Parts: sequence; structure tokens; C-alpha cells
Amino acid sequence: MIVVMKVGSSQNEIDGVINRIKGFNLGIHLSQGAEHTIIGVLGQTFPELQDTLRLLPNVEDVIPIGKPYKLASREFHPRNTKVKVKDLIIGGDEITVMAGPCAVESEEQLLSTAREVRAAGANILRGGAFKPSTSPYSFRGLGLEGLKMLAKAREETGMPVITEVMTPGDVEMVASYADILQVGARNMQNFALLDEVGKIEKPVMLKRGLSSTIQEWLLAAEYILAQGNEQLILCERGIRTFETATRNTMDISAIPVIKLQSHLPIIADPSHATGQWYLVPPVALAAIAAGADGLMIEVHPDPNSALKDGAQSLTFDNFRHFMASLGPTTQAAGRKLAAGGIKVKS
Ligand code: PEP
Ligand code: MN
Repeated sequence: MIVVMKVGSSQNEIDGVINRIKGFNLGIHLSQGAEHTIIGVLGQTFPELQDTLRLLPNVEDVIPIGKPYKLASREFHPRNTKVKVKDLIIGGDEITVMAGPCAVESEEQLLSTAREVRAAGANILRGGAFKPSTSPYSFRGLGLEGLKMLAKAREETGMPVITEVMTPGDVEMVASYADILQVGARNMQNFALLDEVGKIEKPVMLKRGLSSTIQEWLLAAEYILAQGNEQLILCERGIRTFETATRNTMDISAIPVIKLQSHLPIIADPSHATGQWYLVPPVALAAIAAGADGLMIEVHPDPNSALKDGAQSLTFDNFRHFMASLGPTTQAAGRKLAAGGIKVKS
């Protein structure tokens, strides 16, 4: 951040600004030109500092330099973060596919889906036990029972599981069942939850908020990183726009923007982005071409009877065809699909 003083500022006014900056334990770099005096602020600044300094006498302008987040930035951490989940590495050369139902509905529904997506080449099983819903009358999930079913599906298929945690008080319990904890779009700015998942030693996937800018998303990531959890994955799941033909608008360009500005891996979720099962394959391919490190895809044994998100869920057949279609785009993007069908426990 730099502070530009008005022409003719007195030494007293310049000292006033310098002392204010030092009062925040920040350093200064003074540059006194023929007309303007410019004071550089050294150290980790915060957004409110700009307004505070702007109010001081004879300050002409306060200009932020650099990003408001540090730990999430590529400047601070030039090399890609690779998140290890069992034998998988998310954010390396390989594309990771997470698949499963929107919500865990029953043991039979989850186990049959787990077997099918594993056989088709998926790497990680998804399924919500705690469901965030816009309406309180929607299915809210099976809770602890759902977590137990996920653990059973992992036991049977060997696939790691990802599931959502909605409240800070549930983090420990969900972490004891899940391999990756998901923070959903509606909770991207639940700062108490971000702090809590920042304290655990398990990977976290942070979905982009419904109407959040990339900067707000990276600042939310910063909360988790600042608590010490560096096993963090981002997920672009579409944002709210004026368009009504799709459930959300997949922000494809967010993928290369994240790659430029951050070192964190990014997964694309074309299911929630589009809301229609037949739009999932083309948007998934576009996401891979744009540099996504993986996909999250909703799959259901019978989408017509799904308790949640049936319209955007692929059938088993559709998912098999979908997985078989990823090769050429993945190769063109210089990646390969992570080995699917992780070992079946005998
Ligand atoms: C989900 O993954 O099922 C979900 C609720 O997604 P989002 O938070 O992106 O809406
Ligand atoms: Mn869903």
C-alpha cells in the first residue's frame, strides 16, 4: 500500500501518517520528491487501513499494492500445492474424479452408486450427509447415519470419501468419517466454520460462494490456511448471473485465473454449475481444457426419484459413457486421468 501526500504537506502531517502506520506494527518507506511525498507501507496490510489513512490530514490518495491475501497467493507460494488423499495426489499431473449422489439417501443407494462409479473409473466418492438447502422443507440429509454409510462404502470399495460439514461444532465428527471435508457454497463465508476446518489435519475442499468474487473466495481460503491447514482444494461450482437457462453460470475463466493467482488445486463441479445432466459432459470437458485439476460429478441410480438434485445427476450408464469420453481432452490438456477403481477390499 502506498500513501500519496498532497503537495505542500507539512512535516507534521507526514509524521502523523508515519506514526499511524507504525502504530499498526507496520514499517514505512519514505520517498520525498520535489512536490509529492510518498510513503510506502511495509508488512501485511488489511483493507480497513486504506480508509483509516485516507482520513488523515493532507493525504491525497492511498493505493493498495498487491493482493489482500498472502498465504493463498502464488506470489507467496510459487509452486503448486499438491493435496494427498490416500494414493491420490490432487493438483499434480492427474485429473481426479469425485462422483456420487448429491445426498446419501440409503445404504443401498450409496453402495450401488459407489460400486458403479468406481468401476467406471472415479477416484473419490461424494455424498452429502448434512445437506445445506435454500428451503428448510428440502431434504436435509441423514446426518450421522449418512456418515456411517459413507464409511461403509469406503470400506467396501476402498474409495476415499468427501462430504460436507455445515457447522463448526460438527467438524470433529465429520472429520472422523471423511477423507476430505467439503465447505459448501452457502458456507463459503461462514468464518467460524473456516477457522475450525483450518485447525484439522485433513484435506478441505472450499466451494466458491453463490455470488462471490474470486478475491472473496481466496480470502475465505486464506482463513483456512491462516489456521495452519494447507491441505486445501478449491471448487468452482458456478456463480449466480442473470441467465436462467442454467442453474448457475459456470465461470470457466475462474479456473485459469485461480491457476495464475493461487497455488491451490481447483476442482470443477459442472453438476451444480449447470443443473441439467445433459450439460454436465460438455462443461466438464471445458473445465479440463481450462486447467481444472479434477471434477465433481453427481450420479444417482435413479435420478427421477432422487431426493435432491435429480435433474443434474447422471445415471450409471451416462456416467460410464462420460468417463470414457474424457481421454482426448485430458490428453490435449497435457494431463492424464488418475487411476480409477482403487483396490477393492476382499
Ligand atoms: C453439493 O455439493 O451437493 C452442494 C450442495 O453444492 P454447493 O455447495 O456447490 O451448492
Ligand atoms: Mn447437489
